[in-house]
Amino acid sequence: MDKASSKKSKEFSGLVKAAAACTVCESMCGRSAVLGPLNGNIAPKVMFIAEAPGRQGADRTRRPFYGDKSGDHFQRLLDSIGLTRDEVFITNTVLCSPRSETGANRKPTKTEIKNCSGFLRETIALIDPPIVVSLGSVALEALKSIEYHQLSLKENVASRRKWHGRMLIPLYHPSPQVLAAVRRADEQLVDFKAVERALAAVAKATGGRQS
Ligand code: URA
Repeated sequence: MDKASSKKSKEFSGLVKAAAACTVCESMCGRSAVLGPLNGNIAPKVMFIAEAPGRQGADRTRRPFYGDKSGDHFQRLLDSIGLTRDEVFITNTVLCSPRSETGANRKPTKTEIKNCSGFLRETIALIDPPIVVSLGSVALEALKSIEYHQLSLKENVASRRKWHGRMLIPLYHPSPQVLAAVRRADEQLVDFKAVERALAAVAKATGGRQS
């Protein structure tokens, strides 16, 4: 490993430790942050940012989008453009799994999103991906606090914008609820082609080299 990669790896370990030790959200007491080596490659081609670790998925397996139906569909999307998990980094707007009183998954609150925004900001800065893909409106909204944008999922899905020194592509979340009521699986497969096009654009711009 070269010096720069070793420095990045050490800094990532520091961030993982800080997230593991975080106790800011009272509502998340008893949960732990899903941030570590299972999030993926720290020098990825693409960074995906979703909503929050799910009860059956990332909170249980410690690997974002793994072990639940959202994860199965996300894997199908990755496969459809020939991307592997080794080539990407996946994280969430909030790192701990938000639960209702009955223990079911719930949406993160505005306060929880704000509390976790420092980790999101630092993760993007450290990982420094050429392409960021937000999955769902929670992630797209949260990015506004890092660098303001005016994108909305409805109007800008699968479009490619310059944002925060890189490309940003807003996509819908691959959860069963979204697939059933908002954006069908076949539509999401078409949307995902935007990631393939962005990868081709980055490869062209860098002559195939990526830092
Ligand atoms: N799993 C994740 O890691 N994030 C989500 O938003 C949903 C499932």
